[in-house]
Amino acid sequence: MTPPLLEVENLEVSFQTDQGTVRAVDGVSFTIEAGQAFGLVGESGAGKSVASLSILRLIQSPPGEIESGSIRFRGEDILRMDDDDLRQLRGGNISMIFQNAETALNPSHTVGRQIAETVRIHQDKGKRAAWERAVEMLDAVGIPDPAERAEEYPHQFSGGMQQRAMIAIALANDPALIIADEPTTALDVTIEASILDLLSELQERLGMSMLFVSHDLNVVSEVCDSIGVMYAGTIVERGSVGRVYRDPRHPYTHGLLNSILTPHENVERLSPIAGRMPTGTDRPSGCRFHPRCPAAMETCTERSPTLRTRDARDVACHLHPSPPEKPGSAATVDGKETLEALYRD
Ligand code: SF4
Repeated sequence: MTPPLLEVENLEVSFQTDQGTVRAVDGVSFTIEAGQAFGLVGESGAGKSVASLSILRLIQSPPGEIESGSIRFRGEDILRMDDDDLRQLRGGNISMIFQNAETALNPSHTVGRQIAETVRIHQDKGKRAAWERAVEMLDAVGIPDPAERAEEYPHQFSGGMQQRAMIAIALANDPALIIADEPTTALDVTIEASILDLLSELQERLGMSMLFVSHDLNVVSEVCDSIGVMYAGTIVERGSVGRVYRDPRHPYTHGLLNSILTPHENVERLSPIAGRMPTGTDRPSGCRFHPRCPAAMETCTERSPTLRTRDARDVACHLHPSPPEKPGSAATVDGKETLEALYRD
């Protein structure tokens, strides 16, 4: 049987800090099949970026350390690869798009040279062929006059064009998997929409897989097939976009959805999650979400819920998994569904 393209299993990553050891990623597992897009979503500090950086072993050690677990790419454990194999993997089979293109691009080299260099590292191409590939990639990501723009420096590109150039670098070697870590966070809304469209279109056309990291559940639902919702280092809900985004079961996923505007809604519906994500050194006992959870019960302060399959997705919550009897049947308070009603037996 063909193994999944990427299989992350029970990943644990910690950092040494002045306050002690912080377990930033605590037993995270997910799978990405060929051609599929998986989104990791959660507030800042959830551990999603650390999990994604671990895939390419980009966690600086010390202070960080991948303590245990496995990360298999096409069945081969990345955590056991030697330096040569790792170098080939990075920017070859798996490449990364970072959040801030302005700082990720080298200001002293032309954009074309930066794309051509990554091509020459991974492919047996001469300077001319690599340059032609650079121009081809700028064209593929929608940069007008690509031959001329390849001669320009990053500061001559707008923010949106810099992010397109980053995507061109990431795709230049036809990777099987692309990791996009908050790739649109630094952009304004209209440019964000065009970059998301571009990523989705390229992912589908080139048949790549994608790991998309974001704090925005709307954005993730637009570009991904399935989602893992992260809270305080763990995945609390995982499943298809159809299940997790349109019919969430975990109170934290509900909270994330209630904190974002969807099209055709007004701002009065917004209801942010009370409180803050605990830091790695002050995590509460039991369910880590319990101090912020509107549906918390006594047992939640004592017992940590494990991720279990319920209603065709995985959820870590002590609440009863059954959905309301029929859509719209949940009790309401001031016209709003209550979590208690949604989860009631
Ligand atoms: Fe809320 Fe308890 Fe479920 Fe945690 S286990 S999300 S505190 S109901």
